[in-house]
Amino acid sequence: MRWRQTRPKESIGWSAGPRVDRGRVHLKTTGQALSLSELRSLTGAGVARTDLSRHQTQLLGDGVGCVSLTDFRELQPPGETETMAPQGSRAPLEFGGPLGAAALMLLLPATMVHLLLVARSGPARLLGPPPYLPGLEALWSPRALLLWLTWLGLQAALYLLPARKVAEGQELKDKSTLRYPINGFQALVLTALLVTLGVLAGLPLEELAEMLLPLAFVATLTAFIFSLLLYLKALLAPTSALAPGGNSGNPIYDFILGRELNPRIGSFDFKYFCELRPGLIGWVLINLALLMKEAELRGSPSLAMWLVNGFQLLYVGDALWQEEAILTTMDITHDGFGFMLAFGDLAWVPFTYSLQAQFLLYHPQPLGWPMASVICLINAVGFYIFRGANTQKNTFRKNPSDPRVADLETIPTATGRQLLVSGWWGMVRHPNYLGDLIMALAWSLPCGTSHLLPYFYLLYFTALLVHREDRDERQCLQKYGLAWRDYCRRVPYRIVPYIY
Ligand code: NDP
Repeated sequence: MRWRQTRPKESIGWSAGPRVDRGRVHLKTTGQALSLSELRSLTGAGVARTDLSRHQTQLLGDGVGCVSLTDFRELQPPGETETMAPQGSRAPLEFGGPLGAAALMLLLPATMVHLLLVARSGPARLLGPPPYLPGLEALWSPRALLLWLTWLGLQAALYLLPARKVAEGQELKDKSTLRYPINGFQALVLTALLVTLGVLAGLPLEELAEMLLPLAFVATLTAFIFSLLLYLKALLAPTSALAPGGNSGNPIYDFILGRELNPRIGSFDFKYFCELRPGLIGWVLINLALLMKEAELRGSPSLAMWLVNGFQLLYVGDALWQEEAILTTMDITHDGFGFMLAFGDLAWVPFTYSLQAQFLLYHPQPLGWPMASVICLINAVGFYIFRGANTQKNTFRKNPSDPRVADLETIPTATGRQLLVSGWWGMVRHPNYLGDLIMALAWSLPCGTSHLLPYFYLLYFTALLVHREDRDERQCLQKYGLAWRDYCRRVPYRIVPYIY
């Protein structure tokens, strides 16, 4: 049997064919020796062309098989090496390419402003036109700008305080690792202390409720200017520092997706800072301001407002307590830092994730203890799945021999890493998303069923996680090739068992 590789237009630089022994192709990826027909059924019969964008290449011989570059690398006989780096292998464009990404860049801020306007309007209609179109005088406020910059400065100062631990991130393309301060929870506690002292000294925190629109506007403006600076900084960055996704060559697309993976000045990591500090802590602070405003208007906060505040504080506190777990998430390991993440972290999270509390302030909802108990139970179930799945994967990624995960069944991959195939990750392929969605439902239920608006988060989050899951699957297929296909075969459901 003679194997040769098709030459793609842009050479991917392979010098040799796969190792074939007595008609069987040996895959170190899965430890299997496959016949051509087995290879074909595993990799999908009928795939008969080179597909660089999916990192796949066609093998011609007695039959046609299609394996990922990772697997193909494994198929090379020992001693035969790549002749060139895979220059042409750029990641496929996401979000519908430059046009789709540009549309999102306009649509997301517009949606945020729409939600802020309708939440306080009488009918509170999610669909349909906003009650009015705000002029510049409603959006722009020097006081809001000053407040926002003070907030960013405070969080940056807290980030720079000595940390209880410094953690190492995942290995980068150039085999180096970055170090991250683990002091997010400390920042939350210190912020809470400062705010408490401020309120005791007469700081009118509840006034934030009236400033959400101009604050959201300046946050969006800062995200835009910040991403522009990040884009310019990335022009000077070495190729090894670029994110796989934001390196298309199209400036608009790359500006939105983010060119550089981990932009830093010294040890200050901009993406890591923005992911968990100003936006996330800002979100619970806005919730608290809305609760205090409700107390001012109605004498005391409602049970529904307490639940929304409590659930979301638990979520944010947990994210900061488990801060190290973010180092293995897609945002840190794969996505570049551009407008999409900067806007998401700084503006979208604090101003749209506080939507339920905003809605409750202007549309009080009756909620009895029996229903509140059921909602608490739903949130607890979601949190249990979410935390269990994330901790299990993080523990496993940090140390596969950790006694807490050592007994779990795994699949070996060509990269040397393994995939969990039992425990939470044997139930569905993204159990952490399932837990997150159950919690999203619990956050909306205290707002009753009279309006669709407070369910916006659940609807948007479902769409986000379905899309995110799909992106992650494609990335994992590129990374792990046949081992990932094997995982999908053994764990067929993506997020919800027996449904999706
Ligand atoms: P994950 O934490 O699920 O990370 C996905 C990665 O996990 C994969 O790329 C792969 O990376 C690894 N992995 C996948 N399957 C397995 C397996 N079987 N065994 C071992 N490793 C596996 O994704 P996200 O970063 O998207 O999400 C992190 C958390 O953040 C989730 O709980 C999510 O719900 C939440 N989230 C919340 C958002 C919000 O706005 N509230 C927004 C986005 C996410 P590798 O193999 O390289 O380690």
